[in-house]
Amino acid sequence: MIVILRSDLEENSPECQQTLSYLTHLSGLEVRLHQVRGAEQTLTEIYLIGNTARLAADEIRELPGVERVIRISEEYRILGRHKDDRRVSGFEYNGVTFSPDSLNVFAGLCAVDSRESVESMMKALAAEGQVCTRMGAYKPRSSPYAFQGHGKNCLPYVFELAGKYGIRVIAMEITHESHLDEIAESLDETGHATGVLVQIGTRNIQNFELLKAVGRQQEFPVLLKRGFGITLNESLNAAEYLASEGNSRVIFCLRGMKTHLGDPHRNFVDFAHVSVLKRLTRMPVGIDPSHSVGSRERSPDGLSDIMHVTAQGVIAGANLVLVDFHPDPARALVDGPQALRLEELRWFLDDVQIARSAYENRCALARRASSHGGV
Ligand code: PEP
Ligand code: MN
Repeated sequence: MIVILRSDLEENSPECQQTLSYLTHLSGLEVRLHQVRGAEQTLTEIYLIGNTARLAADEIRELPGVERVIRISEEYRILGRHKDDRRVSGFEYNGVTFSPDSLNVFAGLCAVDSRESVESMMKALAAEGQVCTRMGAYKPRSSPYAFQGHGKNCLPYVFELAGKYGIRVIAMEITHESHLDEIAESLDETGHATGVLVQIGTRNIQNFELLKAVGRQQEFPVLLKRGFGITLNESLNAAEYLASEGNSRVIFCLRGMKTHLGDPHRNFVDFAHVSVLKRLTRMPVGIDPSHSVGSRERSPDGLSDIMHVTAQGVIAGANLVLVDFHPDPARALVDGPQALRLEELRWFLDDVQIARSAYENRCALARRASSHGGV
């Protein structure tokens, strides 16, 4: 059961404290307090965990400061979309809105290799009015002998250049909780020139200690990649780990599934699940066409598979596109074959816009069809 307090009440208000004290005295229930930072307001929510079937929702609704009580029996208690659930979803971070209605493109380097690459990439993004990017510093690699990323050494120049080119949010994967401190320290040292959307990769989605550590901190929102070899239910439970520890600013990102049935793509593209995720959860949904497809090969129509699958995800309502670009893909240290060239950036962004307009038209048509015809 979730008890939502009035939006004007802080955690230490008398109303919140009285209600909390009443609830903690109910036997056999665990009580957890959450601050949910939405795009417009911060809500205080109290989660009652255990056998709540015996509780009378009407009585709890009468407690001081309570605005609404939601009974939850299904999975994904915090991030799920429940019956009669009107909780706000989405959030704002460093001036950028992430919600089930927004669309942000994170074009950038799979792995930071040099200051020059970072600068060329950011300059190209700034020229297109883009304020988000991806920059890999800590790379999880199959081989221990492969380039592992520059780690914390590249953070000062990545953040400084982000400030210079007006980049507000950088998606950056971490593979260990100590990376959170390294990023926070470097952001401090560069005067918070930018923000970081902490990425948890497909390989770490069931690293429960990492999930808990990232969930415990409130500074950075999270981009969680779907596990490439586990069920959707298992991946969504991983998202719930983040939220149950206190961080519900989570974007869930599809990135393809590992199976040879997807050949010749690197992974089997799973963007048909965009609408499934919207139905099951309240999280903004991202797509990663680069790691799904794995090459920049083009079809006879002149479009690359990466652009085709991006359009498929965006026309279905995706809220974030994470895509690899590189100023010189042949010299990229990681995933060069799937990196698009900077000269293709405007084309890519225009193509995304075509798919987004088509999605908006489709939503308008759906609204007309259901209001007129009652279908
Ligand atoms: C990445 O985005 O750089 C990455 C390694 O992705 P994934 O975890 O989806 O493989
Ligand atoms: Mn990669």
